[in-house]
Amino acid sequence: MVLLCRKILAYLGLNPDRLKIEFMSAGEGILFAEIMNGFGNRVNKLGPLGQGEGLDLGELKSGLAEIIKLVPYIKVVKKEKLASRLYDLEEYDKLFTTEEIDSLFRDVVSYHIDPDKCQACMICLRKCPVEAIVGGKNRIHVIDQDKCIKCGTCFEACPPRFGSVQKISGGPVPPPIPEEKRIIVKKNKEK
Ligand code: SF4
Ligand code: SF4
Repeated sequence: MVLLCRKILAYLGLNPDRLKIEFMSAGEGILFAEIMNGFGNRVNKLGPLGQGEGLDLGELKSGLAEIIKLVPYIKVVKKEKLASRLYDLEEYDKLFTTEEIDSLFRDVVSYHIDPDKCQACMICLRKCPVEAIVGGKNRIHVIDQDKCIKCGTCFEACPPRFGSVQKISGGPVPPPIPEEKRIIVKKNKEK
């Protein structure tokens, strides 16, 4: 995870040396002091976050906010690599490439419910871990993109015979249909 975070810092234009992890026991006070002094000196030399790198602070703040929102998504899409145990330092350093991080943010996935296919079965709504799906009985369901953490649960949960949840990679998400058009009128009730 630390390696991935360092790569993400670099993606944002920040110096990855601002992040460091060390493991030690509670009894290693001298080692702790040495490491903290060294790390403190290093960060001091780098200067204030963003300013030291000559970044626009407003852009940095919004970039960080976007990435914080994507943390659950990143954990899902990179779960296999994040779970790998590597003992070779060289292999570890190559685990996440710069191209991979660029594509992670460029091709970020979004989910959308096709209003023409949704049958209001409410399965996705019940399974969404962050209550990002708005719907109800006989109502076309809609994903609140501001709340969605892109976990993909709704995509997996929507019954294949409906196939209403679409996965969109890197493209814009269609706007939600207006409230008044979300009622599903069953064919046998139309007469
Ligand atoms: S991807 Fe689907 S289930 Fe996951 S948070 Fe977004 S709307 Fe909810
Ligand atoms: S699971 Fe599929 S069909 Fe059922 S409410 Fe969700 S999007 Fe609509």
